[in-house]
Amino acid sequence: MKLDEAPVRADLLSTADQVLVDGVLAGQRRSLAKAITLIESTRGDHQQRAQQVLNALLPSTGKAIRIGISGVPGAGKSTFIEALGVWLIEQGKKLAVLAVDPSSTVSGGSILGDKTRMELLSQREEAFIRPSPSSGSLGGVAEKSREAMLLCEAAGYDVIIIETVGVGQSETTVAGMVDLFCLLQLPNAGDDLQAIKKGIVEIADMVVINKADIDKQATAVVRAQWRNALHMLRPASPNWSPPVIALSALHKQGIVEFWAEIEKYQAALKPTGEFAAKRQHQALSWMWQLIDSGLRQHFRHHPRVQASLPSLIQSVEAGQTTPATAAYALLDALKH
Ligand code: GDP
Repeated sequence: MKLDEAPVRADLLSTADQVLVDGVLAGQRRSLAKAITLIESTRGDHQQRAQQVLNALLPSTGKAIRIGISGVPGAGKSTFIEALGVWLIEQGKKLAVLAVDPSSTVSGGSILGDKTRMELLSQREEAFIRPSPSSGSLGGVAEKSREAMLLCEAAGYDVIIIETVGVGQSETTVAGMVDLFCLLQLPNAGDDLQAIKKGIVEIADMVVINKADIDKQATAVVRAQWRNALHMLRPASPNWSPPVIALSALHKQGIVEFWAEIEKYQAALKPTGEFAAKRQHQALSWMWQLIDSGLRQHFRHHPRVQASLPSLIQSVEAGQTTPATAAYALLDALKH
């Protein structure tokens, strides 16, 4: 192997971290869990090690299909993911389930993590289930989940599912880190209008109406409503119109049809380059988000900014200085 092809910058890794990297590459779940714990740590030295481990693993990432699944509590997310996961394992695939749960940052309690979920799946060797990182802002939680996703790919998982709830910006955030974003809905008429109001119809690549077994007629009505709602929008890609499918996660009906749509999506967008372009766009936007938050932190901690901020805030509040004048004065302070 030529030096420039070497996937691992061994010179940067300690022996212990090299063992961790090798363990992840060998698909060992304990190593994967340890590596995720490392990236979730807020300690400065851990963060530095985590980035080195991630860089070493980066060449082995990117091969999985990344699917986002969102739905209100009770929509059937865990029932669906479990049924899908068990079926995927039967097809010879390995899957990882990660969660982005912003509720922990809003209410201090976790919607996705409180109960024992996906019991069958969690016992399977071919599945890796990780609850949401629990600290920090939505941006912080999402950043850790993005990195955890890369680690899972390096560990050889073919399908990565990122689960979230319809709280705040979490759906948009998750849609920004996956290949395909799927809304899991109940057969309740009018939910499409809620979704339109919240602006999430635009980010859906697929809509799944779950619990179709309860009321077939209501399911058909809701399915038609969703089709109309999606039809009103210009699709994000000329090569993909988001499908609306109905299924019953509880009775494991419609799982095969769901997966057929996932395959169709890839078949439609991979040859055109859109699939790869979406990932490139996501990676760059992730980079810019980190730059933005880093700059903001640098700004707030800058001694000159800290010195003049209180008086400028007062002055803006009192209407003596325009917000723009104050902002430019503070930004100017950064130059010195
Ligand atoms: P989550 O909060 O979105 O993860 O929802 P759960 O998967 O925990 O499901 C909530 C409830 O709905 C549970 O009692 C499930 O058994 C039930 N459920 C899930 N999927 C279906 C379905 O397809 N049909 C019916 N009848 N019940 C379902």
